[in-house]
Amino acid sequence: MGTADEFAGRLEEMIEQEKSDFLKRQPRSRELTERAKKDLVSGVTSSWQSSDPQPVWIKEGRGSRVWDADGCEMIDFHGGYGAGVAGHGHPAIVEAVSRQVQRGTHFAQPVEDAILVAEALAQRYGLPKWRFGNSGTESTMDAVHLMRAITGRDIIIKVEGSYHGHHDSVQVDVHVELEDLGDARHPNSVASEGGIPDAIVQLTRAVPFNDLEALEALLNEYEGQVAGMIIEPIMMNIGIIFPDDGYIQGVKDLLHKHQALLAFDEVKVGFTTRPGGAVEYFGVTPDIVCVAKALGGGLIVSGIGGTEEAMGGIDDVYDQCGTFNGNPLSMAAARANLTEVLVPENYAKIDGLREIMVSGLRATIEEFELPAYVEAIGFKGCVVFSDKKIRNYRDFMEWDDRFSNVHWFYQHRGGVFLPPWGKVEQWMLSVQHTEDDARRFVDNFAAFAKALRS
Ligand code: PMP
Repeated sequence: MGTADEFAGRLEEMIEQEKSDFLKRQPRSRELTERAKKDLVSGVTSSWQSSDPQPVWIKEGRGSRVWDADGCEMIDFHGGYGAGVAGHGHPAIVEAVSRQVQRGTHFAQPVEDAILVAEALAQRYGLPKWRFGNSGTESTMDAVHLMRAITGRDIIIKVEGSYHGHHDSVQVDVHVELEDLGDARHPNSVASEGGIPDAIVQLTRAVPFNDLEALEALLNEYEGQVAGMIIEPIMMNIGIIFPDDGYIQGVKDLLHKHQALLAFDEVKVGFTTRPGGAVEYFGVTPDIVCVAKALGGGLIVSGIGGTEEAMGGIDDVYDQCGTFNGNPLSMAAARANLTEVLVPENYAKIDGLREIMVSGLRATIEEFELPAYVEAIGFKGCVVFSDKKIRNYRDFMEWDDRFSNVHWFYQHRGGVFLPPWGKVEQWMLSVQHTEDDARRFVDNFAAFAKALRS
């Protein structure tokens, strides 16, 4: 296997070439980028839509395809950052939303579909009680509030490097430099951006992923003060990192031993890995589960679910509320998604597509002796450009992001659209992708590998 360093010069050359070719393919997008900068901050609607040398402006999506503002057709493996399980314009989602849009788009009162969605979630997750919101951030915020309200304690534990949305309590030790984090077994609490008071930052303590001893030491250090821990059971914002065998059960046991609660952040993991997400995959039931992204089949919806005891805190000690919670359009889409899109035969189809991708990519990595490996589960996967297995945030920070950067451009030139933050994100399949779509991804990867070695 080659080492990452031996490619450094070649990667620099390729990045320059690819940027310039990319801009030539995107004249209309260039115009939009310039125009947008005037009235849209940084020319985008969310900071994570920015990319170098310019954002990709989308005009339309159909099935597994999207078309950009320049009319280029691309197979969509971006998946709207993890929401796109249904693909674009899926008939079941179109029917449900069209029907509801004519009957009213907003009441701020419960609708029957909300019961159907809650019933479907209770069945998938084996957790009896649910509430809805509008984004992953809201769901993890509710989980943190609820854990604090129920226990009357202030400290929250999270995993170093895990992203859980952009509210204060979880914007700690995400995208932070290693030198600021200090000791790997006992990281400092560092705000991930401005605007978060230090008093709040210090109430969130991080532990390294896959390290039960560090968690136990922290629980002992803050005995009687820890409300709970929020954890993404499979880390999906720094590539894909699986927990060691027994880690997730160990986390639950330790927390409960210290009368603290466990919340799974399944904003990405939910529905895309298994019908019942990480709860099903690991056979470990937390007190609270946060879902969002893939729940709505492309519409805007999130949820939190949990045990009777944990969710009993809602209305008792914490009001989970919001004008658009349980919005009728979102509920209609989520109902159709759970009952008609995320069905067993589609999970089986996805298994087949993922297998084409994983085996094809592995063969190319072997043939070209690349310092890389493939991780994949359910609708998602990624190539990790590292010659050693990544187990946590510190390992991730060592991985050279120029590989993912050039890979992104090669996929784009070959008509495949990936999330712009290549190192962090992964590919996403939808139920409308085909075997040819999966093979296109593999072929583009082979072209990239060949160019890298040339
Ligand atoms: N948790 C995880 C694991 C996420 O990946 C994200 C979004 N990338 C969020 C929470 C926040 O979700 P949203 O962007 O919908 O607020």
